[in-house]
Amino acid sequence: RAKSAGGNRYELADPEADARAITRHGLTTALPAALERDEFFIEYQPLVHLGDGSVRGAEALVRWAHPQHGVLGPDRFIPLAEDTGLIVPLGRWVLEESVRQARRWQERHAEAGPLRINVNLSPCQLQHPGLVSDTVDILDRLGLDPSGLCLEVTESALIGADDDLLKPLRRLSEMGVDIALDDFGTGYSNLANLRRLPVSVLKLDRSFTQGMQQFPADPVDLKLVEGIVSLAHSLNLSVTVEGVETGAQAEALRDMGCDTAQGWYYARPGPPDRLHELALADAIG
Ligand code: C2E
Ligand code: MG
Ligand code: MG
Ligand code: MG
Repeated sequence: RAKSAGGNRYELADPEADARAITRHGLTTALPAALERDEFFIEYQPLVHLGDGSVRGAEALVRWAHPQHGVLGPDRFIPLAEDTGLIVPLGRWVLEESVRQARRWQERHAEAGPLRINVNLSPCQLQHPGLVSDTVDILDRLGLDPSGLCLEVTESALIGADDDLLKPLRRLSEMGVDIALDDFGTGYSNLANLRRLPVSVLKLDRSFTQGMQQFPADPVDLKLVEGIVSLAHSLNLSVTVEGVETGAQAEALRDMGCDTAQGWYYARPGPPDRLHELALADAIG
């Protein structure tokens, strides 16, 4: 309840909002020390070739093992790290750790094939002047070929992007790093805009896959996905679908020409050894 007195306006505290604020504030202030104390870790979720079910790589997904609150997902703390700028060192840590892991997979078992690693970039990292040099340095130092790395950038981060913002991505792409447009279809997808962006992979957002959950699936949804896939292919982009939870979805998406899939149907995000085991299997889907 709000109360006014003598022109001053007091907001009576909403206990729930308060608790949220404290947690938010508490988490925000704890972030730098958490990075120093190594409280972050990465889970890997396989990227599966829809044609033969083989594991071709993994997406790195960061988690925070908070000493009081348990394991927190990225949605809880990435926005806070973005607000405070900590996302830059945190993102660099994620990149280095993921590249090191990709290298380990390559060394341990060449027969698992050249597993590639996908790493998410937040908009702040895109604007950070050190992005290209940090990435080059990490790849050089750890000995991973640039073609083994794919950086995921959300569509919304690139909306209205001018040339200055695209330049670092273009440089990375020329070096052989793949750039993926993440969560495609959630923003104001401007299909014509696609040709301007230095991307080689389109990651269709989970909402499309979820739309196919109902049976029979909405035929308009199916047409939409088919249309996006054929447009992407005509622009030489490969298509990855997120959030595949059933075999029926996987089959439908394969029939529609999608190239790569990711989702609980194949595996939840997990530790690096688990990915390694999955990669050694002939097919997991
Ligand atoms: P994203 O890049 O779109 O990652 C996919 C998210 O979908 C992950 O959530 C993953 O666990 C979840 N997912 C995968 N398969 C399924 C499925 O079959 N069903 C359902 N319902 N969900 C599935 P997560 O790990 O909570 O990550 C959320 C978001 O946080 C990511 O979305 C990404 O945008 C961001 N994120 C994660 N790690 C990093 C990071 O290192 N840096 C930055 N900047 N962002 C990150
Ligand atoms: Mg992603
Ligand atoms: Mg995504
Ligand atoms: Mg998504």
